[in-house]
Amino acid sequence: MLIGAHVDQTDPIAEAAARKAPLVQFFLGDPQGYKGPEFAYAGGAEALKADAEAAGIALYVHAPYIVNVATTNNRIRIPSRKLLQQHVDAAASIGAKGLIVHGGHVNKSDDPEKGFDNWRKAIEATDLKLPLLIENTAGGDNAMTRYLDRIGRVWDAIASCEQADMVGFCLDTCHAHAGGNALETVVDDVRAITGRIDLVHCNDSRDEFDSGADRHANFGAGRIDPDLLAGVVRAADAPVVCETPGGAAEHQADFAWLRERL
Ligand SMILES: [Zn+2]
Repeated sequence: MLIGAHVDQTDPIAEAAARKAPLVQFFLGDPQGYKGPEFAYAGGAEALKADAEAAGIALYVHAPYIVNVATTNNRIRIPSRKLLQQHVDAAASIGAKGLIVHGGHVNKSDDPEKGFDNWRKAIEATDLKLPLLIENTAGGDNAMTRYLDRIGRVWDAIASCEQADMVGFCLDTCHAHAGGNALETVVDDVRAITGRIDLVHCNDSRDEFDSGADRHANFGAGRIDPDLLAGVVRAADAPVVCETPGGAAEHQADFAWLRERL
């Protein structure tokens, strides 16, 4: 079982080493900005790719939070698509295994059908040079990937795309719990829709089931039953990224907690 963490982007190789982790996830640039990806690593993209390969570390890139390719708002959707392509290109240039992006949402009064169709258009408009992993989200009005039926509609919409096989799924345990999806069955439920789970974001949740709140907690410090959390990881049988609070020490404690229960 490959277990790693979300880390600072300046030196992901050192962050992986500090955690004895075989994989790390990080942002490329500002997670809240439209400026486009940047490489903070000394030596840039080429050096990061080479050093990760030499160290045997798998890299995952998380797209900025503001990317929302589903929205009907042109002033957000169009820059989001551009940002998505830029991040695909940047993540591919460092040999990343996948680019993780949130499912996004439409406005409260919008017909969700428009959002599903905007996902189809985004996939058709993007040159997917590496797997794009769509992540479930915890809350938001009219979200595309909070509840299973909506995830199903997104998948229906993109099924006809030529690059459909380049679209995968990232299951976040905090988001699933806070979003109101039973962790007892969520792995099977998602797989029945997507056919795959490519990555698990393993996080405990500071908030209650179906609260809609996206606040991650260290394992055992939140509201998710420990056995359920481990059960999701076991059933998903995919690489794990812990997006839990703290640095190397806290992450290593989380890894140990999880391994003990697997
Ligand atoms: Zn996540």
